[in-house]
Amino acid sequence: MRSKLPIFIGTALALGVSAGLARAQAHRPPKAPASLRVYIFDCGVIHTTNGDAYSLKKEEMASTEMSIPCILVAHPKGTLMWDNGDIPDRAFPPGGGPASLGVVTQDKPLLPQMAAAGYAASDITYLSMSHYHGDHVANANSFAGATWLVRKVERDRMFSTEPIVRSPAENYNELKNSKTILLDKDEWDVFGDGAVVIKSAPGHSPGHQVLVLNLASTGRTMLAGDLYHYPQERTLHRQPPTTEFSVEQSAASRVMIEEYLKRTKTEIWIEHDFAANAKLKKAPAYYE
Ligand SMILES: [Zn+2]
Repeated sequence: MRSKLPIFIGTALALGVSAGLARAQAHRPPKAPASLRVYIFDCGVIHTTNGDAYSLKKEEMASTEMSIPCILVAHPKGTLMWDNGDIPDRAFPPGGGPASLGVVTQDKPLLPQMAAAGYAASDITYLSMSHYHGDHVANANSFAGATWLVRKVERDRMFSTEPIVRSPAENYNELKNSKTILLDKDEWDVFGDGAVVIKSAPGHSPGHQVLVLNLASTGRTMLAGDLYHYPQERTLHRQPPTTEFSVEQSAASRVMIEEYLKRTKTEIWIEHDFAANAKLKKAPAYYE
């Protein structure tokens, strides 16, 4: 019996590989949508138990927990993957099921959620992330075949010799060789028609940025990265956390973005806002 085991494993591996190949061959890139869409995937919850880091008292907050959305934008001319989770898909048990990492839990890995909406990692034209923290870049390596849109200060920090706390480089190191466009303008118009704009909002990290979408039915919507974590930070005007890369820059970015939201009649989606995120429809449903 024992001598047959390697043969069995070899066969199982071969079957697994051919099944994987068949799946890859079966995948047809999705039809480009007629107008802009945004898909929100559930990439888990940070079970934070207080708002101390944000100078918020528990009684001032609706919830101390934070949502982690993963975000895919589909435009008639291509796709953009934005923030992509805290727990990499490879950390999930084989066959699916929930995973946990520190104080984060997540029910389903990202790529199967994308597949349910018709997308594979190879369908992604552009990758851009609000910033390099671990809860935004977990699956970045899956999109290393896309063109990476990033600010030079952010990329330099990601590949400096000093590790980023709680953001393992093994989750994003393959981006080093990705086709890359260094964003050198305050606003970067991704598809050239003003529908998808990446806007600089530094402070939380050196090259932190927000994503502005001009959706035909939903209206102008900003995915704000970690400009704020809780909605009460906006109304109670608390100082940005002392852990920011630059508290001064964060404070200035908040003033600038609030003015921008008003002037351009844009609605803000705070990505970590647990209550607001719970109300958003999740992929395969989408906003357009
Ligand atoms: Zn975050």
